[in-house]
Amino acid sequence: MKKTYLFTPGPTQIPHDVTLAEAKSMIHHRTSEFSNIFIKVTEDLKYVFQSKSDEVFTFASSGTGGMEACVVNTLSQGDKAVVVRGGKFGERWAEICEAYGVDVIPIDIEYGKAVKPDLLDYALRKEKEARSVFVTQCETSTGVVHDIEGIAKAVKSHNALLIIDAITGIGVHPLMMDDWGIDIAVAGSQKGCMLPPGLAFVCVAQSAWESIKKARLPKYYWDFKKMRKSLGNKTTPFTPAISLIMAAGKALDMIKKEGIENVWSRHARLAHATREGIKALGLELFAGDASSNVLTAVKSPEGFDINSAIKKLRDESGVTITGGQEELKGKIFRIGHMGYVNEFDIIVAISAVEKCLHENGCKIELGKGVSRVQEVLLSCK
Ligand SMILES: *Cc1c(COP(=O)(O)O)cnc(C)c1O
Repeated sequence: MKKTYLFTPGPTQIPHDVTLAEAKSMIHHRTSEFSNIFIKVTEDLKYVFQSKSDEVFTFASSGTGGMEACVVNTLSQGDKAVVVRGGKFGERWAEICEAYGVDVIPIDIEYGKAVKPDLLDYALRKEKEARSVFVTQCETSTGVVHDIEGIAKAVKSHNALLIIDAITGIGVHPLMMDDWGIDIAVAGSQKGCMLPPGLAFVCVAQSAWESIKKARLPKYYWDFKKMRKSLGNKTTPFTPAISLIMAAGKALDMIKKEGIENVWSRHARLAHATREGIKALGLELFAGDASSNVLTAVKSPEGFDINSAIKKLRDESGVTITGGQEELKGKIFRIGHMGYVNEFDIIVAISAVEKCLHENGCKIELGKGVSRVQEVLLSCK
């Protein structure tokens, strides 16, 4: 018998009721039955994005499709765009821009560090022509959370759109589209939204439309103008991922019932307990003070083969945590704690880390991490 536990930074665990909603009989999408579900999902997404904008688009795609849509709908060939890198996902913004002939002005941040908002002000003063600024809220590859509120303040006085990859940030860290003045934000289904992979959500503020009308990059499937027109008719231009949208109805209901502020504070508390448990084991956080509440990235002990230990843990115990990507492969491991996660998930995750290290010859005291997690959870309610 194998029972599985998913502590990866996407995909994440899915509540049973969401799976049941996804398993309902298929319906046709050009019906009022579908439109009612779709419009309710769109309304609930506005709440998650903290936006009054009527334009929240749901694409059948992974998160990256939503990112590509932001690039092709706001820019023309040869335009300049400022991109905060410092991890695989920040780099992805730059790669998408480059694929379309956009001139990227990178702001490179050391892996594991957050960008200082002043750097954006500085870059935009120098590059007055820059049309868009692309930032990642939570850089899932390093575990860093960037200060989007501060960044929005720094970008505000300039004439560029602020576009945020909130794919893992949404539903974990506060993101106030309207209050902070974010022009476009992207979310994905398989992270904090407690859904399977396959949907990208893009929230477009009124302030972005002037640029969207001018943007000349080629697009067909990703066209925001088509999406807007269809949304006005309570539908999508092409066949939507009907089952996933039915599942989203349930998942967003759960978020609304809990209350978004409570969702944020639950993540903050659980992430704090995770970090404390890791430190109690004598391990070091890769992102230090910039650690997100989405996942905890941990430096792998010196000389320890973390990847084979992770594989063994998954194969033998059914617990999945992840290693680092590309340059960080073998150097860090990552524990995802976003979405459908509670206290006992953290206890399981930390005890799995203890077992994984101990069994593979790393000198740690068994129970020390778990005991610290229990203490923290009991002392901060
Ligand atoms: C997961 C993720 C993405 C998108 O990845 P897809 O595999 O395309 O869904 C983008 N940005 C961040 C920060 C992510 O964590």
